[in-house]
Amino acid sequence: MPDVVVVGAGLAGLTAAIRLADAGLEVEVLEAADRVGGRVATDIVDGYHLDRGFQVLNTAYPRLRPYLGDLDLRAFARGAEIVTDDGRHRVGDPRQGLTLGLDLLRGPIGSLDGALRLARLSARALGPVHPLVTGPDLSTAAELERRGIDGPLVDSFLRPFLSGVFGERELATSARFFLLVWRTFLRGTVAVPSEGMGSLPAVLAARLPAGAVRLGVRVREVTADGVRTDDGGVAARSVVVATDPHAAADLLPGLRRPQMRRLVTWYHTAPTADPAPDPMIVLDGRRARGPVVTSVVISDVAPRYAPPGRRLAATTVLEDVPAQVVRRQVAELHGDSGWEHLATVDVPHALPAATPPLVVRRPVHLGPGLFVAGDHRDTPSLQGAMASGARTASAVLAEVAGMSDFPA
Ligand SMILES: Cc1cc2nc3c(=O)[nH]c(=O)nc-3n(C[C@H](O)[C@H](O)[C@H](O)COP(=O)(O)OP(=O)(O)OC[C@H]3O[C@@H](n4cnc5c(N)ncnc54)[C@H](O)[C@@H]3O)c2cc1C
Repeated sequence: MPDVVVVGAGLAGLTAAIRLADAGLEVEVLEAADRVGGRVATDIVDGYHLDRGFQVLNTAYPRLRPYLGDLDLRAFARGAEIVTDDGRHRVGDPRQGLTLGLDLLRGPIGSLDGALRLARLSARALGPVHPLVTGPDLSTAAELERRGIDGPLVDSFLRPFLSGVFGERELATSARFFLLVWRTFLRGTVAVPSEGMGSLPAVLAARLPAGAVRLGVRVREVTADGVRTDDGGVAARSVVVATDPHAAADLLPGLRRPQMRRLVTWYHTAPTADPAPDPMIVLDGRRARGPVVTSVVISDVAPRYAPPGRRLAATTVLEDVPAQVVRRQVAELHGDSGWEHLATVDVPHALPAATPPLVVRRPVHLGPGLFVAGDHRDTPSLQGAMASGARTASAVLAEVAGMSDFPA
C-alpha cells in the first residue's frame, strides 16, 4: 500500500509526487491518459513538433528553477514585436523594467505620461510579491484605468499580449494575476524546450522512482481508504487529487467548478526563409484587423519544431474564425512566403478563469488524508500548477509524516 496516491500526472501532480518521494514516502501516481503532462503535451506530426496549444515557459518561474538545467531551452528574444498601422516596433529588453515604458515611446505606441505610468507599475511589479497579491483586487482593465494607463499602450500592446495569456480580451482577469505575469515577463526569459513543451513533464517524471506513475488508469471515486479505479481499488493513507479543475470537482463534491478559458492555436508552415535573427512574439496592435492575438515563427526560436526546409508558425486566437482569415493575418504578420494551414488545436478548457478577487493560495488540505492540487488552487499557469503541487506535498508531509516544519 503506497503512503500517497496522486490522481493526475500533470505538472501539479508530478511536482507533488517528486516532493513526497524525495521526502521518503511511497507514492503512486495514477494518470488516466497514456502520457504524463496533462495540458502540457507535444505531438509529432509529419516531423513537426506541435505543442497541444501554443505555450511557453518563463525562466523566472521559481518552481521551474530545479529543472532548467535538464531542459534544452531555446529562448525568444526579450520583449515583443508590435505591428501597428505605422509599421513594426520591437519593445523590451524587459529586464530593464523601468525603461520598457520609455522604449515604447520609440514606436507610436505610448505617450510620455503612459510610459512613465507603466514604468511605475513595472517598478511595483518588480518589488516584493506579498503586496501584489493582497489588498483589494480589481480586473486588469480597471487597474490599468485606475493607473491612467490607456489608449494605444493598452490597445496595441498590453491587450494583445495579455489576451493570449488570460484567454480573454476584455482584461476581466484579476489584476493580482496580471501583476504576477508582468513581474515574470520583466524578470525572466520566455523559452521553449528544443523538442517541444512535452519535454517539461517528461523531465519531471524522470525524477520519480521507476514505476511510480501508472498510465491509463482513471480514478472513478475517492473513497475513505484510497481511490476506486475501473480495475478495483488502490488503498493509501493519503489521496492527492491533482486533476484539471472540473475532474477535481467531479471527484470532490463541493469543490468549486471554475469557468474555463479557451485558447485556439493555429499552426501554419512555409518553406524555409532566413530565420529572424532575434525572434520575438509578434502582437497585432492594429485594432479590429483580425482575430489573431499573438503569433510567432516558433521554428525560428527552436528549429527542431519544423522538419528541414520548413518553418512553423504558431498563432493564438480566442474564438471560431474561418481558416482563410487566420492565414491572411499570419501572412501579414510574418511576410507572405507561402504559409499553409497545418493543424488547429482547440483547447476549450485551457485555463481556469482568474477573476477578481483572486485567491492565489486556495486551501489544499480538505480533510484527514484528503488533498487537492492544480492550477485552480494557485494561478492558471505552469508556475501556479507546480506551486500548488509543492504546497500540497508540504501539507501531506505535515499531516502524514508529522514534518510540520517542512519548508513550504
Ligand atoms: C493552450 C494552452 C496554453 C497555455 N499557455 C501557458 C503559458 O504560455 N504559460 C503558462 O505558464 N501556462 C500556460 N498554460 C497553462 C498551463 O499549461 C496549466 O496551468 C498547467 O499545465 C495545469 O497543470 P495541472 O497539473 O494543474 O493540470 P493538468 O495539466 O490538467 O493535469 C491534470 C491531469 O489529471 C489527469 N486526470 C484527470 N482526471 C483524472 C482521473 N479521474 N483519473 C486519473 N487522472 C486524471 C489528466 O489526464 C491530466 O493529465 C496553457 C495551457 C493551455 C491549455
